[in-house]
Amino acid sequence: MQTVSCNNENIPPLKIVCIGRNYAEHARELGNEVPSSPVIFMKPNSSITQSLASQHNEEVLHYETELSFLIKNKKIAAVGLGLDLTKRKTQAGLKEKSLPWERAKAFDGSALFSDFVDLPDSLEQLTFTLTVDGELKQKGEVTDMVFSPQAVLDECASFMSLDDGDIIMTGTPKGVGELTAGSTYEAALYFGENRLLSKTWIAQ
Ligand code: ZN
Repeated sequence: MQTVSCNNENIPPLKIVCIGRNYAEHARELGNEVPSSPVIFMKPNSSITQSLASQHNEEVLHYETELSFLIKNKKIAAVGLGLDLTKRKTQAGLKEKSLPWERAKAFDGSALFSDFVDLPDSLEQLTFTLTVDGELKQKGEVTDMVFSPQAVLDECASFMSLDDGDIIMTGTPKGVGELTAGSTYEAALYFGENRLLSKTWIAQ
């Protein structure tokens, strides 16, 4: 089993539940409508990796930086950042035919995570950034989400069990883009002005 790290403990998530179109401006940049209920898809444990690949049976992969939560006792227990790698071309073809997205979203190596840390007092003040070679590409704020973390958790729990160690990825803000081999991707998580964590990957 692949694992993620939370307070120096290795945890094997059984599933990663992902939310699509949870930021209005990102939905628009891909030509999608803002949904009236959360768009939900999943990545299996086998999608988790430590190394960032810029290709996977498709020449171009996109990065999506996402606030991610670790579940314990059915509740949001810890926070980290994740990259939801996407085969955008494949996804566009699947969307056109109204087919499931797994081929574009659930491949090996499509989910990367920072360490997870304890929750701050209030989730509303969480913000995050992604820089590529030092240039700001994505900036996300909980207050910009269409569906709040708790609303997303409640929606998921309304039809499936969330087990200890499961991860919820809460969707990506605008600014998604192509991964380039050799480039440095740094995701940073803030609570107000305080940097809670950061994680750097160099694309292979
Ligand atoms: Zn995503």
